[in-house]
Amino acid sequence: MTGEKLWEQQRQVIKELKDENIEKAEEIKTLKGWINGLPQLYVNCVYCGHRFKPNPEVFPSQTDVVREHMEKCSTHPLFQANQKIKELKKVIEELEKRLVV
Ligand SMILES: [Zn+2]
Repeated sequence: MTGEKLWEQQRQVIKELKDENIEKAEEIKTLKGWINGLPQLYVNCVYCGHRFKPNPEVFPSQTDVVREHMEKCSTHPLFQANQKIKELKKVIEELEKRLVV
């Protein structure tokens, strides 16, 4: 394989990873908007069943408490998406290092 072809392949891989990152970020934004709109007294994590204590001061969404839980809940798709984004960022960094050398 020629050097130019290898470079082109690496550029394509980086582009695909960046596109996937953008899609995941958009998915996270959409889901956060959905959570903000939930008018419930009791809030549960639909993935692990965790029930958040009712807190009239932050009713209805308890956004901050829910956000903290999502960042730690291994069954939540946002947690999984964040993990994937972290993995992809590492791959992109490694590929970019190879391109610079
Ligand atoms: Zn959960």
